[in-house]
Amino acid sequence: MQHGVTFIPGDGIGPEVAEATQRVLEATGIKFQWDTVIIGSQAQDKFGTPLPDQALQSIKKNKVAIKGPVTTPIGTGFRSVNVALRQMLDLYACLRPYKVYPGIKTPFKDVDIVVVRENTEDLYAGIEFAKGDSGTKRLLDLAHDATGKEIRKDSAVSLKVISQTASRRIVKFAFEYARQNGRKKVTAIHKANILKFSDGLFLDTAREVAKEYNDVEFGDMLVDATCMELVRKPHIFDVLVLPNLYGDIISDLCAGLVGSMGIAPGANIGDEVAIFEPTHGSAPKYTGQNKANPMATMLSGVMMLRHLGEKGSADNMESAIAEVIAEGKNVTYDLKLDPATAVGTSQVADAVIAVLGR
Ligand code: NAD
Repeated sequence: MQHGVTFIPGDGIGPEVAEATQRVLEATGIKFQWDTVIIGSQAQDKFGTPLPDQALQSIKKNKVAIKGPVTTPIGTGFRSVNVALRQMLDLYACLRPYKVYPGIKTPFKDVDIVVVRENTEDLYAGIEFAKGDSGTKRLLDLAHDATGKEIRKDSAVSLKVISQTASRRIVKFAFEYARQNGRKKVTAIHKANILKFSDGLFLDTAREVAKEYNDVEFGDMLVDATCMELVRKPHIFDVLVLPNLYGDIISDLCAGLVGSMGIAPGANIGDEVAIFEPTHGSAPKYTGQNKANPMATMLSGVMMLRHLGEKGSADNMESAIAEVIAEGKNVTYDLKLDPATAVGTSQVADAVIAVLGR
């Protein structure tokens, strides 16, 4: 069977890691019908919009995409197309498994954590009020009338939106994932001691949902304490479910625990569509240098194969990547104690393909 997949190379290091992944996916023997589309600044230059309709239509048609990272201008310019894709396609669950593969140089040996990040709301809802705008003034007046609290007139405001609906479906997703993958515990991460309404609603909803899953243990932890415990005792964590911003930050912390951003995969999953992409960004300083580690994108490809029901090929591809890591010879700078002995992005793909071909 041939799988139709939308291929989004991205920018920065994106095209290099995405193409390396595409070659390895082809080498598994699974047949793909690729539809390549561009988004971000390349699309802005070519079509006058960073998220052209043809890209969206391709993803909607294929229902599966693999994507390299895309740069977001800081402060000004277009809003993140990565966030926009998740919101427009309602890819509400960001799934990121982090584990330490044998051979990785990290002091944290016992890490096998799955981050389930809510992907559509929280501070990423994109509802912002700029300093001095008339809308901002109305908002500050309303807040004052409703709470009696004075907000400085020269403030900018970003809304943290947490709904019961989105909280419920992300926590259910985490429990379903735990159940289907033999995981023992789901921990909800929050700051409900301070953010009593928004994070409080997330926590209350998580507690309610947990009652429907008596076969999976449930706990909760404050996000600040979680950061400390992740570094002290990462082995106590199993599946974490988090609102969007904490999920973003804890993801990078977990990538650090397992040794590199370069081996941290991910998927954005909705009821209809799934987009597979690494945790990391476009690392612009390494653009075009054949330097970045493609394994995070490759491991996202492994997740894609599992999603497509190609379990055997997914297992083979993951084993081949693990073997290259364990051997330690054909890996990029981030996995080397002596970076002078590192190989490039495309050589990593060659090495994984060689293992698959044995
Ligand atoms: P980044 O993840 O791109 O890079 C941070 C550092 O991590 C790099 O300088 C590099 O040292 C290391 N790194 C990242 N990927 C690596 C890899 N594959 N191999 C080896 N080392 C790697 O984070 P950033 O610099 O904060 O973001 C750069 C751009 O990417 C920004 O425009 C940001 O908005 C965007 N971004 C996009 C996505 C996405 O497309 N989903 C995600 C995060 C960031």
